Amino acid sequence: MKIPHKIVILLLVFTSILKAQDYKQRFQTIDIQHYKLALEVNDTTNSINATMQVLLKFKKNVPAFELDLVGKDSVSGKGMIIDSIYQNNVNVSFTHTNNKITIEPKHPFPGIAYTYTIAYHGIPKDGLVIGKNMHGDRTFFGDNWPTRAQHWFPCVDHPSDKATVEYIVKAPNHYQVVANGYLLEETNLPDNLKLTHWKTTVPLPTKVMVIGIAQFAVQNIGETHHIPVSTWVYPQTKEQGFYDFSIAKKVLSFFIENIGEYPYQKLANVQSKTRFGGMENAGAIFYFENSVTGEQNHEDLIAHEIVHQWFGNSASEIDWPHIWLSEGFATYLTDLYILESKGQKAFQKRLENERNTVLNFFKRKQSPVVDTKTTNYMQLLNANSYQKGAWVLHMLRKKLGDSTFRKGIKIYYQKYKLKNASTADFQKVMEEVSGKNLTIFFEQWLYKTVHPILKTNWIYHTNKVRLIVDQIQETAFDFLLDVELIHPDGTSEIKTIFVQTKSAPFVIETTGPVKEIKLDPNTQLLFELATN
Ligand SMILES: [Zn+2]
Repeated sequence: MKIPHKIVILLLVFTSILKAQDYKQRFQTIDIQHYKLALEVNDTTNSINATMQVLLKFKKNVPAFELDLVGKDSVSGKGMIIDSIYQNNVNVSFTHTNNKITIEPKHPFPGIAYTYTIAYHGIPKDGLVIGKNMHGDRTFFGDNWPTRAQHWFPCVDHPSDKATVEYIVKAPNHYQVVANGYLLEETNLPDNLKLTHWKTTVPLPTKVMVIGIAQFAVQNIGETHHIPVSTWVYPQTKEQGFYDFSIAKKVLSFFIENIGEYPYQKLANVQSKTRFGGMENAGAIFYFENSVTGEQNHEDLIAHEIVHQWFGNSASEIDWPHIWLSEGFATYLTDLYILESKGQKAFQKRLENERNTVLNFFKRKQSPVVDTKTTNYMQLLNANSYQKGAWVLHMLRKKLGDSTFRKGIKIYYQKYKLKNASTADFQKVMEEVSGKNLTIFFEQWLYKTVHPILKTNWIYHTNKVRLIVDQIQETAFDFLLDVELIHPDGTSEIKTIFVQTKSAPFVIETTGPVKEIKLDPNTQLLFELATN
């Protein structure tokens, strides 16, 4: 996803509901197979009526298991109230406290799938955002990231318990409903109601499960690689919206050709009230309302969200500290799309900007990319996960070579599609593909808070430059550094040195006098120059 700057502050007040630690026990107990949500919305209240059928398997015999669902609180009057829970067709005992449903199963056998039917109602406090859009029209938009699905349906709200999902939505018939998966049914009902049924065939993490209910103008813009692509925008500015999102088809083609087969049945690009700039919901990407301009000026945002369909949605991080496997990938693969579509100069400019963002962030906060300490997941949407993650991939591409890097990305995707991966899993794939030991590379760039901070001194003497490189950060990094030697006539040559220690002298042969040297002329190293 992408966060617009102006709302960053607002996001930071959000705190996660359940710590990652608590999930470990749950994964050892149950495995969700499928969610089937029947949902009724109306125009007179913001209260929803719902029945969720959760199909799950037990991993062991347990007296009770837990699902997440935010309960009604007496202060706001918002939250969900459970009416009943059945196991297959039998009533079961449960409690609903601290936003957790604890269910006592009847004679569960490990390995066998059971259906729990949970009837509930209430006004969602979050997760399903009900209100008026920019034109004053009533809309309902899911916005689950990171753990806000549990505000509107019972689930295991963690990216590593994936499941297929279907939604059977009953709404007034002046709305259209978009969701993950493919459209199974759309039928008008008595009393000016309409039933819309969407279903996925592959498992998704809850963070990218979504529905959108609004008055949309919908344009089918054709297929690429047999994947239908459509645009869903507010009718008031449909011409602009159709034009803006018409580029999605060529963006999708590029990534199918460069990563592998697209994991979902369709791609819908949807104007919405998401709190994010873009939210990569599986096969139904939501964009912020003002993304519609009629000027096609969000091509990189569209590319970023489309990359997530592979990285983040299909090959997902195993847990939140590994979120750079989503955001760093989306950022860097967008850069590579820009390299292809706009050329080397535009690509390099983006990398310079991304590096500056990392260096500025480091001045405010020192934390590693793989951050196991931050439990407010919104705070993980930072320059480490996005821009530094992208830079790690950029340096890895330089280290392995373009073709080995691209091959590694494809193999990593094939191995972890529809599953979950950790940073170590990704490292292992890249080591296997390249035949290189990447321990130092991953350790220094992803698990340390700092980056190389360099101070240099040099003199020229008879066709040699004597250069001293000091790394003034605490521990030394290993890296290749390009040095551009600029001659008095303006011509130059680039030499590469391997820097490994805190302070090292290098003797570089040159063809003639040197008037100036420039470090990293082609933007290939994440570093900063020490200020004196
Ligand atoms: Zn993203």
